[in-house]
Amino acid sequence: MYCNKCGSYIPSKRTVCSNCGAPVPDPNAPAPAVEPEPEKRPNGIAAGGLVMGILTLVFCWFPGIPFFTGVAGVLFSIAGILKKNARAKGVAVAGLILSVTGLGLSVFMLFVITIPGVTRYLAKAEEAKSYARTAGVVLRTLIM
Ligand SMILES: [Zn+2]
Repeated sequence: MYCNKCGSYIPSKRTVCSNCGAPVPDPNAPAPAVEPEPEKRPNGIAAGGLVMGILTLVFCWFPGIPFFTGVAGVLFSIAGILKKNARAKGVAVAGLILSVTGLGLSVFMLFVITIPGVTRYLAKAEEAKSYARTAGVVLRTLIM
């Protein structure tokens, strides 16, 4: 073997070069350990985003609630996606998709079902009131 610093011959048993004193690399030494992958940090906010997304979907028919849970779900999920070196990125993405879907559904429900339904209900109530008024007038006329 030859010294890789000065190039002089080194007998195989020697661990340092007799010429320059440089250490001789041990050919039997194990390869330097691969740097272990840093531990992934838990991603609680991603789980929070997923829970909010599920709540948004569950309550999408209910006026009010899905807007709070939906916005919270979107914010938590984005925070979970952006969190550096964290696990459960997929959970955060799922939370974001569910939150956005839930928000969209709740807006759809509000404008397509809830508002027309309430309007129709109020119109019916008004109609019923006018019937009652008419009936009252008729009744009074009959009595008098
Ligand atoms: Zn040497």
